[in-house]
Amino acid sequence: MGEPKTIHFVSLGCAKNRVDTEVMLGVSSESGYEIVNDPGAAEVIVVNTCGFIGPAKEESVETILEMGAHKEAGTCKKLVIAGCLSQRYPEELAAELPEVDHFLGSSDMLKLREVLKGRTERMLVGNPAQYTMRADDPRVLTGQTHSAYVKIAEGCNRECSFCAIPSFRGKQRSRPIEDLVREAERLADMGVVELNLISQDTIAYGRDLPRRQSLAELLTALADVRGIRWVRAHYLYPEKLTEPLVEVLSRHDRVLPYVDMPLQHASDTVLRAMRRGHGGKRMYELVERLRKSIPDSVFRTTFIVGHPGETDDDFAELVAFVEWAEVDHVGVFLYSPEDGTRSAEMRELVEPSVAEARRDELMRVQGPISRERLQLRIGTELDVLVEGVSDESELLLQGRWWGQAPEVDGSVYLANGTARAGEIRRVLVTDAADYDLMADFVDGPVGRDAPPGEKDPRPLKVKLRTLP
Ligand code: SF4
Repeated sequence: MGEPKTIHFVSLGCAKNRVDTEVMLGVSSESGYEIVNDPGAAEVIVVNTCGFIGPAKEESVETILEMGAHKEAGTCKKLVIAGCLSQRYPEELAAELPEVDHFLGSSDMLKLREVLKGRTERMLVGNPAQYTMRADDPRVLTGQTHSAYVKIAEGCNRECSFCAIPSFRGKQRSRPIEDLVREAERLADMGVVELNLISQDTIAYGRDLPRRQSLAELLTALADVRGIRWVRAHYLYPEKLTEPLVEVLSRHDRVLPYVDMPLQHASDTVLRAMRRGHGGKRMYELVERLRKSIPDSVFRTTFIVGHPGETDDDFAELVAFVEWAEVDHVGVFLYSPEDGTRSAEMRELVEPSVAEARRDELMRVQGPISRERLQLRIGTELDVLVEGVSDESELLLQGRWWGQAPEVDGSVYLANGTARAGEIRRVLVTDAADYDLMADFVDGPVGRDAPPGEKDPRPLKVKLRTLP
């Protein structure tokens, strides 16, 4: 037997793309390939691209060109492009990039098998509606072994005017609960204790299944898998929260009351232009309901500034909402016109410099709010998932408490003890910075530190909000 063949992956874009890359890593391992970190040592290079918005597309093209250099140098024999960019622009890319040997779309992960066998044509971009991930798809986890993303559905049925995703990811296709439980069991066997559920529209999970299933049912089923300690749902569309969902978020010991809900804006006019199906009042009602029904919840949201038609008054409404809502984590994106969307046809454009100034202003307003929310944790006990030795110093351990999602929300630094990566430990918070906490290990049973109602009373005071 000769040396194993080598393959290198570049994964761009969001967590959903990362799961797709992990499936292609699984396909490569099954096919006998050795995965290498150095593209210069790889016979096959796969770039899993992002085609979401302008800057992401540019980054994808630059990466393809960079990887193409290894083909010119002769070390790389096969260059493969996968993901949203090739799903969106297959013909254009095929014409512009002769150095690329194969194009896969955003739902063609398993076709990599045929590519690696050397028995297939150049253009392999398929119809996304024909693929939904399954528990028995091969998968190699990247990053921390105790935490994994789980893609619970593909596609989206909404019609937000700024978003091109439904046009190339297709209609929503939810995976059945039984299949997701099987995947969770496999992940738990691999040492995973934290599941982060992702999709385009997580709150709509299961509505498309023949036997309608709900996000609340799914959360309960996954949290009951042996070995799974934390389940967190990302990307909840701002809909009225159903009673069963509030119930499971607030009462289940292993379902985290972490609400990640992209609100996008708070002005009626902009929300109408975005075709979100609701006005700004919904935002106030949602935050108020959340604070009342799950007072210990942690709230993450994102906004888009610079959407066509956004006036100074609209932006002022958004700022007023952000000041009122006092959410924990906020991300602000600049509007990006996308081919084939209704927003891209609108005429009342916002100057890029104005949009940038609005983004900076919103972050300036939110900064002290996030800081204050973290400072409220000083002196309280929390459960922390230990991730290992800190990137900052070998003398510190690093982890996350349940209110910090991986990769987006900061860390907890621990200076006074030892622990294994993947352990959930009780800590006392001693200090807070802009995004991170300092804490010491303490003795004491773990269980979610913010148990709704039935355990110790919450040490943290959360202000109840009322409608203005
Ligand atoms: S819900 Fe999200 S993915 Fe679906 S159309 Fe709206 S922005 Fe796009």
